[in-house]
Amino acid sequence: MFVDIAKISIKAGDGGDGAVAFHREKYVASGGPDGGDGGRGGNIVFIADTNLSTLADFRYKRKYAAKKGENGRGGRCNGKKAEDLIIRVPKGTVVREVESGRILADISDDKPVIVAKGGKGGWGNIHFATPTRQTPRFAKPGMPGEAYEVQLELKLLADVGIVGFPNVGKSTFISVVSEAKPIIADYHFTTITPVLGVVRMGEESSFVMADIPGLIEGAHDGHGLGHQFLRHVERCRLLVHIVDVSGSEGRDPKQDFETINNELKSFNPELAKRPMIVAGNKCDLTDDETVENFKNYIEEQGYKFFPIMAAISYQVEPLLKEIQEQLSKLPPITRYEAEPAPVIPEEEIEKQKVTVIKHDDIYFVEADWLLRILRTINFDDSESLQYFQRVLINSGVIDALKEAGINEGDTVSMYDIEFDFVE
Ligand code: GDP
Ligand code: MG
Repeated sequence: MFVDIAKISIKAGDGGDGAVAFHREKYVASGGPDGGDGGRGGNIVFIADTNLSTLADFRYKRKYAAKKGENGRGGRCNGKKAEDLIIRVPKGTVVREVESGRILADISDDKPVIVAKGGKGGWGNIHFATPTRQTPRFAKPGMPGEAYEVQLELKLLADVGIVGFPNVGKSTFISVVSEAKPIIADYHFTTITPVLGVVRMGEESSFVMADIPGLIEGAHDGHGLGHQFLRHVERCRLLVHIVDVSGSEGRDPKQDFETINNELKSFNPELAKRPMIVAGNKCDLTDDETVENFKNYIEEQGYKFFPIMAAISYQVEPLLKEIQEQLSKLPPITRYEAEPAPVIPEEEIEKQKVTVIKHDDIYFVEADWLLRILRTINFDDSESLQYFQRVLINSGVIDALKEAGINEGDTVSMYDIEFDFVE
């Protein structure tokens, strides 16, 4: 079964905890702190696997969690970092966060991508020793690993997408110009899986073509495929719209052309602007005048038109040449950039639950909700820092610190950052 969309949850491993330990040796009184750091939690890493062509594996296994980093130990032993968890997906899989809808990654080349970062290990008590604090009896817990509900969407990587009504000859066309062997039959809904074919043009040049099952196909079939399949032409650089110019099934070719264009537009307005070449197929079933008439109609709208008979490869060569010519001038196949986490407007930050724990002269702030904000802060950017300061005020962190008795110059420790308190 062809599955091109799936929802899973991913959770990177938490960092291991830092250790509280003191050096002990026979005859050596009160040794110094020697608790090691926790190890990093495992990342969730996505890798494209060319042996996979669908997301079917994700229908049954929906939860993926990487392991926690090892805790630190005494004797300055740092915990081992946990192994990354690898998730294999077909090439062209876009990973989207369900909550915000933003793109986390586009797995469309061979580079592994970390989609959820493992938490950093917590510091052992070695780090907290100072001349005035020689026996720190505290260490830091590991940072939580990132966790997301994600939607995986397969968007095929093809230069050219073939669109058109069912039975107009899309599969026939791709089968005569490439090595792809889709099912061809004289009834609707034969193709319910997009098929990729490589078209070789001479020695050097080639391009990838995708035969996309039409919107109207699956939808009538009750398979619920609907026009969701159009997702697979979203990356295509060029569309080839095949129309049955003979109207052999009793429809009007002009009407067909408009219907499909409207579907493209309603699925994604960007698709309606994609460069398009029109091929009038089944010319053998009609007369020259009808073809000429349709050609004029298409050319008036600014498209190039090619009459063909796909079944006998008649006149497909000039069409392929035009495709190659246009592709040479078009930008490469779309790759999607990861989108940053949305910054929460500071005026939307309300009072939150904050815990402040004081160890010696360090004030440890704990608040889960802060983690999400910390990830969006750029500590090298003054504007971002100002935003962060206002968040601390609006959310009540500053008040909580004051309640705990903080003074100017005391150290504040907030997950993996540390700073001096300034009024
Ligand atoms: P698709 O649904 O658009 O993929 O259409 P198919 O490629 O499966 O073709 C549908 C039917 O049209 C098949 O029976 C093909 O043999 C037939 N066909 C394809 N090209 C031509 C052509 O140029 N002339 C004629 N008469 N029939 C064709
Ligand atoms: Mg087909």
